[in-house]
Amino acid sequence: MTTTIEKKPEVSNKQVQTKAAANGHATMKGLVYNGPGRIALKQIPKPVIEKSTDALVKVIKTTICGTDLGILHGKTPSVKPGTTLGHEGVGVIEEVGTSVTNFKKGDHVIISCITSDGSCEYCKKQLYSHCEDGGWILGHLINGTQAEYVRIPHANNSLYLIPPNSDEEALVMLSDILPTGFEIGVIAGQVQPGDTIAIVGAGPIGMAALLTAQFYSPAKVYMIDLDDNRLEMAKKFGATHTINSGNEDAVKRTLAETKDGVDVAIEAVGIPATFDICQKIVRPGGHLANIGVHGKPVDLQIQNLWIQNITITMGLVNTNTTPMLLKTVSSGKLQPDKLITHHFKLDDIMKAYEVFGNAGKEKALKVIIES
Ligand SMILES: [Zn+2]
Ligand SMILES: [Zn+2]
Repeated sequence: MTTTIEKKPEVSNKQVQTKAAANGHATMKGLVYNGPGRIALKQIPKPVIEKSTDALVKVIKTTICGTDLGILHGKTPSVKPGTTLGHEGVGVIEEVGTSVTNFKKGDHVIISCITSDGSCEYCKKQLYSHCEDGGWILGHLINGTQAEYVRIPHANNSLYLIPPNSDEEALVMLSDILPTGFEIGVIAGQVQPGDTIAIVGAGPIGMAALLTAQFYSPAKVYMIDLDDNRLEMAKKFGATHTINSGNEDAVKRTLAETKDGVDVAIEAVGIPATFDICQKIVRPGGHLANIGVHGKPVDLQIQNLWIQNITITMGLVNTNTTPMLLKTVSSGKLQPDKLITHHFKLDDIMKAYEVFGNAGKEKALKVIIES
């Protein structure tokens, strides 16, 4: 990856501080996207309550998502230069707008990657990802969580209260990856007890699907990836079989061992090659659940698939399962802290991007960034 560490921003941090101070505004540190390949930790204005439905949250812990790397690589042109990145994290409420009734100053909260007003047509169907005044906007269309503070619109519906004595670091995994792996992989894929399932891609999202698939007691779980270290981790997290698709033909072996394929194939990478594996290993009547974020078309083999009575699903997480997942983490049933491999201070976030950007070499899954 070609990340430019910007040592000399056009406007110095001191100038920002002075200008903001002159205007009566406080400043803070934030990781700012400056166009493809360019990010920098800068001194930027501290957010303020803009609408009565907003909350201002002091970010305690955040993380970097594969989606953030996609933005950095110019895959997401809807992110404008100057935007603070990040859509995951836990924090403490600093201030709430007058219409926020579910939270008060001092509450510890999980920040959902999806913002929702709770009242539009989509929200009423629990399709929060398509909220008419929300959806995925944090670190995308508005400033995000890789900063000291973040403004959360529609706070009543977009934050979750953290129960006392929780492992808050583990709960960072509830902002995005656990609900995404669960809703778009496991639920959409209709994993059933006794099923044979395959997950293609042992990154954080694939691992989240692996952990949450076990709610339904599948008989066999194949994890397919190119990285032996990740496959080894997958075994510890409950995969019964692993295949390094760089060393052997994953399709051939899966079909040989399962006779006619898997009940559920979960795609957790987002490239044509991994989608292709999934469409070739799903058995008649089975489900192909695509989680991966694709940047180009795939070659859908509909001439073979049409007769097989399979379903193909895809989508953006709604986070409607977050309260349920929170209960399973609080009780210790689900242990997402296993996915955390590295820790950094916010001051070292550029280093964190380098490590996460070279996840294979660095043996990184999820990195935690602390304020
Ligand atoms: Zn994410
Ligand atoms: Zn809505």
